[in-house]
Amino acid sequence: MQAPPLPYCYKCDGSSTSQCSRCGRVFCAAHGGERLASQSSVYSRLTVVSARVLCDECTPNQALLRLRLGVVIAIALVAGTLVAIMTFNLRR
Ligand SMILES: [Zn+2]
Ligand SMILES: [Zn+2]
Repeated sequence: MQAPPLPYCYKCDGSSTSQCSRCGRVFCAAHGGERLASQSSVYSRLTVVSARVLCDECTPNQALLRLRLGVVIAIALVAGTLVAIMTFNLRR
């Protein structure tokens, strides 16, 4: 069985390649794709940043999300370094 052909992109006349995982709109390669999106995790109060297929309308600020992702990585690195230093100091 073949999947039904998707209609045209919501923004232009290009044939759509994907469907937005948030609003369900279909879009061409130029008006959407795999973007970073923040999702609140059920298991922690932290907001998880992950890649999702989104249209341009649903795409959040990519620079802001990259910054947030960078901050999380930086905190993890600093915490890891601190733990390493503390372990090293305790052993002496
Ligand atoms: Zn388009
Ligand atoms: Zn959307």
